[in-house]
Amino acid sequence: MQLYKNQTIKVYNSLSGKKEEFKPINDGHIGMYVCGPTVYSNVHLGNCRTFMSFDMIFRYFKHLGYKVRYVRNITDAGHLVDDADEGEDKIAKKARLEQIEPMEVVQRYTVDFHNTLQKFNFLPPSIEPTATGHIIEQIEIIKEIIEKGLAYEVNGSVYFDVVEFNKTNNYGILSGRKLEDMIANTRELSAQSDKKNPQDFALWKKAEPEHIMRWPSPWGDGFPGWHLECTAMSTKYLGETFDIHGGGMDLKFPHHECEIAQAQASNGAAPVNYWLHANMLTLNGKKMSKSTDNNIYPNEIFSGDNKILSKAFSASAVRFFMMQAHYTSILDLSNDALLASEKGYLKLMEAISSLKTIETGSKTEFGVAAWQQKCYDAMNDDFNSPILIAHLFEAVKHINLIKDDKETITKEDKELLENTLNTFVFDILGLTGVNEDANGNSEKLEEVVNLLIQLRNDARSNKDFALSDQIRDQLLAMGIQLKDGKDGTTFSLS
Ligand SMILES: [Zn+2]
Repeated sequence: MQLYKNQTIKVYNSLSGKKEEFKPINDGHIGMYVCGPTVYSNVHLGNCRTFMSFDMIFRYFKHLGYKVRYVRNITDAGHLVDDADEGEDKIAKKARLEQIEPMEVVQRYTVDFHNTLQKFNFLPPSIEPTATGHIIEQIEIIKEIIEKGLAYEVNGSVYFDVVEFNKTNNYGILSGRKLEDMIANTRELSAQSDKKNPQDFALWKKAEPEHIMRWPSPWGDGFPGWHLECTAMSTKYLGETFDIHGGGMDLKFPHHECEIAQAQASNGAAPVNYWLHANMLTLNGKKMSKSTDNNIYPNEIFSGDNKILSKAFSASAVRFFMMQAHYTSILDLSNDALLASEKGYLKLMEAISSLKTIETGSKTEFGVAAWQQKCYDAMNDDFNSPILIAHLFEAVKHINLIKDDKETITKEDKELLENTLNTFVFDILGLTGVNEDANGNSEKLEEVVNLLIQLRNDARSNKDFALSDQIRDQLLAMGIQLKDGKDGTTFSLS
């Protein structure tokens, strides 16, 4: 039997503002959509936190035996500098500043995004669609919304009619905002604006002659509005109504509110059953911002090349730090917090590796099965990773007592403990071992170095000292130091 049948998961649904029991539309299957990055700059650490939260959620569902279709898009067109449908396209602006093709910008930062996520040991989503790959689908949705009388064309642009929509629907259902208040709090439209009401948002924007990113449409050359791509891609791959939509808290309004309105207008159904929002990451108690220099990129943390931290931190230590907070809470990154997390992470890894060689006894002084269920209960309660980690450290305490001969454990319980730790630490939290990269390369490295040690021993017994010294020196140049001892040769990484 699949594990998910006996675990009840509760999730905090932003739509209802409550924790609700999670029930997928199709038994055993989950459709999950998460708004991906706009690839016009290196991926932000705060975005990494959001995606990491959903990576953990994806991992947990998979572990329980669900068949998950996880769609995370790449925004490669349509996201304007000013979210209120004005200003330049973020990618086109970067292309202009760097004097390269917009698609070169997209390629460069998509590669950076993937590389960074791989360092953090992310699982790839099931589908990673792009906005520019779905222009036809977006145009079709616009046509449907116009047909329903909920969008209008002006001068080659098409806008969603929020006021008309709100007569039969609720624009503000997710964010809790009321249209009357929004109207009362906005300035009059400028004379040049094509919009009927300031709250209306663009589904299609006319491309001015200098705009490079443009596609033909029934309304002339232009490009899709930013909110539309997510509706097009989620509907295409997950259906008109699907289980989970995730993203950063900052996307709730207007982006997700607009997604709901578009889907409701074109399909006549609410698109998503559970809306999950991840909270923000701050740095030294303040919002991260490039303009105030209160900012750090993932690579600057891994290399230690930054003005904020005292040393470099591994991707796993940073991932452990992120997992120590609940995804709906604000998390503050600081040097002290990272140092403390690194210590905790190393302690956890040490306990897991010492468990391998621990001697077993005739009885266990700690309820391993009950402890295992507590780990599940933590994850079942809206993916509460900090509580899970507290339980993992309960196990660490017992492992250390057993190691010091102050407690015992049976062979069966040791196996259960080991399997459960491996499951939660590596499969679900997505951590990797010390000095191990996301592909588990430390083991392979060990095998390769041991092979070289053997070849060096052969060379020495053949009195080929030139070769044996060459092996030693070249390994040293790579940061691998060989140490000859009584019991043979060992190595360490510098
Ligand atoms: Zn989106």
